[in-house]
Amino acid sequence: MNRIYNFSAGPAVLPVPVLEEAQRNLVELPGVGMSVLEISHRSKTFEEILARTEADVRALGKVPADYKVLFLQGGASMQFSMVPLNLLPAGGTADYIVTGGWSQKAVKEAQRVGTVNIAGSTESENFARIPRQDELKLTAGAAYVHMTTNNTLFGTEWAAEPAVGDAPLVADTSSDMFSRPIDVSKYGLIYAGAQKNLGPSGVTLVIIREDLLARSQKSLHTMMNYAVHAENGSMYNTPPCFGIYLMGLVMKWGLSQGGLDAVGANNARKAAKLYAEIDRSGFYRGTADQASRSRMNITFRLPNEDLEKAFVKESTAAGLDGLKGHRSVGGMRASIYNAFPEDGVDALVAFMQAFEKKNG
Ligand SMILES: *Cc1c(COP(=O)(O)O)cnc(C)c1O
Repeated sequence: MNRIYNFSAGPAVLPVPVLEEAQRNLVELPGVGMSVLEISHRSKTFEEILARTEADVRALGKVPADYKVLFLQGGASMQFSMVPLNLLPAGGTADYIVTGGWSQKAVKEAQRVGTVNIAGSTESENFARIPRQDELKLTAGAAYVHMTTNNTLFGTEWAAEPAVGDAPLVADTSSDMFSRPIDVSKYGLIYAGAQKNLGPSGVTLVIIREDLLARSQKSLHTMMNYAVHAENGSMYNTPPCFGIYLMGLVMKWGLSQGGLDAVGANNARKAAKLYAEIDRSGFYRGTADQASRSRMNITFRLPNEDLEKAFVKESTAAGLDGLKGHRSVGGMRASIYNAFPEDGVDALVAFMQAFEKKNG
């Protein structure tokens, strides 16, 4: 095998056993004689795949029984619209905590629907940190509070959920879903585009507390209505069959790792190795505040942009792909999601040390 180390922010690396199983069974699902790409979504085979995937999402995330698990399309970006369309009633106010570019995009769509209060923002510090609890200005009686648990561009992550009182907490967890144990009962709604930690692009996981479905108005466009998708078991229209199948394999893989406690411990160890190298000598500089550092997207800079260009070029040539940072931060970004192997972190650390020796 000639797989290189893939540090892409998304779509991102998938577990090799998942790819191998998908490859083995791509042309012919065992006992079915057809590909998963070819079968009817109304077939018994697909119904079983969907049911098993949902059961494994519930098992891995310890999702309480009073939550619906939905498999939708349109990416996390469509949730920026669906959340306010369904959950923000006329005359209501939604609180948004803005911690990066994805939060800003969520705000933009919510503002098309109703009143948005920016309950906190670290934009003036180029989103280098997560706001403190005492900085949040929450609205009494807010329809919901929206947050982004991990900020893919800026390399920051909430260490724990903010306290938001009685308002349902709505979270975009696209880039750290199931990367550590999650207490779903603290949330009203969780959504994640699959392509970072859960599977391929094209399927979006939505976990919604059942009582919130009552807010979805009949006047909504059908495909934008959570209640419709829930009533139809994510089968109102043709679901993203292959993405759901693959997400099922990723869930099975997560369970085989020992569940989210084990996955979380792995991720913490991988991130700690990389941050230790960033902090070791002063040649590299982490861009996120220590207390807000992400375990998924690790952002750092070098002493100057020429060195950064050389780092990108030489690391790519060395089989370390996708390290160029997002333009809003510059420098490097190493995305090390669940499936990213620890060997790859070790390889990057060794590369960083050699690069510093040559250029430091
Ligand atoms: C990648 C990402 C998105 C966008 O997801 P799409 O599926 O491309 O719409 C939204 N939010 C966060 C936090 C992300 O990391």
